[in-house]
Amino acid sequence: MSELNRNLLNLPEEQVHMTTQLKSAPKKKQAEKPPAHETKPPANHMDFNSITDKQFLVAAQHMNLDPDIQMLLRTPYRELVVQIPVRMQDGHLELFHGYRVQHNAVRGPYKGGLRFHHEVDLNEVRSLAALMTWKTALVDVPFGGAKGGVTCDPRRMSRLELQSLTRGFTSKIDMALGVYRDIPAPDVNTNAQVMAWILDEYGKKNGYTPAIVTGKPVNLGGSLGREQATGRGTMIITREACKSLGIDLKKAKVAIQGFGNVGSWTAILLAELGAKIVAVSDVQGGIFKEDGLDVQATLQHLKETGSVVDMPGTRELQSGEILTLDVDILVPAALGGVITRNNADDVQAKLIVEAANSPVTTRADEMLRSRGVTVVPDILVNAGGVTVSYFEWVQNLQQVRWELDHVNQELEKYMMKAWSLVHATHTEQGVPLRIAAYVAALDRLAEATQQRY
Ligand code: NAD
Repeated sequence: MSELNRNLLNLPEEQVHMTTQLKSAPKKKQAEKPPAHETKPPANHMDFNSITDKQFLVAAQHMNLDPDIQMLLRTPYRELVVQIPVRMQDGHLELFHGYRVQHNAVRGPYKGGLRFHHEVDLNEVRSLAALMTWKTALVDVPFGGAKGGVTCDPRRMSRLELQSLTRGFTSKIDMALGVYRDIPAPDVNTNAQVMAWILDEYGKKNGYTPAIVTGKPVNLGGSLGREQATGRGTMIITREACKSLGIDLKKAKVAIQGFGNVGSWTAILLAELGAKIVAVSDVQGGIFKEDGLDVQATLQHLKETGSVVDMPGTRELQSGEILTLDVDILVPAALGGVITRNNADDVQAKLIVEAANSPVTTRADEMLRSRGVTVVPDILVNAGGVTVSYFEWVQNLQQVRWELDHVNQELEKYMMKAWSLVHATHTEQGVPLRIAAYVAALDRLAEATQQRY
């Protein structure tokens, strides 16, 4: 299997539920293989938008935010739902659904990733788009918030089919994209290759436009340091949170759920600071080693086998066990909604660093807080990705290239500024870090909204 497919085709079989039959003229031999567009029923899917909306409302109430501003900030500006027919390699036609939600652009063009996953729905994309608005405001980059997604199971698709899907999606939302309008980036199950296809498809109509997408290959105008940026930002915030809580990172045990782009880079960079990465997991399972994993060897094992599972010298973890291990720091770096009322009381970590978007539900957040567990929020922790995306956009617009050291130094500055603001708001106003992060972001957004209206 190619590296691209290992990265893209990485989803859990048991999560695929068949609900719709949109496939044309199914042939007999395909009957056992569910179509790649089939999705879980929305009713079974967690209501992510209500989680992020509640977080917004708590912060808005705390800061006494003008109701008109609240109304404008809570409501997405534009939502696109498109159909994407793809002729699959065996000749049948499948119809996929794609979404692009442009949440808010008072501070700059819409900006946000594109997710390929079988559970993607409009509600989830809406929630992720709002998180991008808060995130870009918090790290003070001149972007708004957006998100995109296609309901598909990339694990069931070939490279060629993924390329057709990406190109089809790009051409369907093309009219809403633009260098100063909306700029996509990678997210779950999309990577630099997918961004290259977007760049190429957009360029067919609009000419050479490298700034139309970030997270693209360096050779096509991507930024050095973008691939590791979200993990590097997560490392910086973990380091600072440990300092403020008196946790010695060199003695700390860390568990990381998800070993894709964000999880693996977080593991590499925290291990470089001396932390002991005792457990990691991916969609196929998890592994544990009491005296710490060799992160580079684990990456090599993943490269060779497609999973971290069966890494020699490790114990296999049961499903969900990674979240409740006896560790100092837990980094959820996979999907949302993994720490809920059902397992929040079993979490043993003192510090949860939300590298994934919305990994902790509202109820779980309260339960963890009441037990004195510190949760550092997603909009701060994983903002390193969009920060270096901003650097990439700047480099593309100016047609210059930054050295890696320069990218990393600038990222450190942006992340430290955001951390200091959130931490100061948290201590001065006596609110949890999550609310402090929202307050800091909403202050900037409210001011920009007032200035425009
Ligand atoms: P990715 O596709 O590179 O990796 C996802 C990882 O999660 C893989 O290891 C996959 O096997 C694992 N995974 C998927 N389902 C799982 C499950 N049910 N249980 C355990 N592991 C599972 O994606 P990524 O880019 O690393 O994104 C991870 C998270 O970080 C997402 O929540 C994403 O929204 C967020 N995020 C990513 C970026 C970025 O720059 N890539 C930026 C900000 C936030």
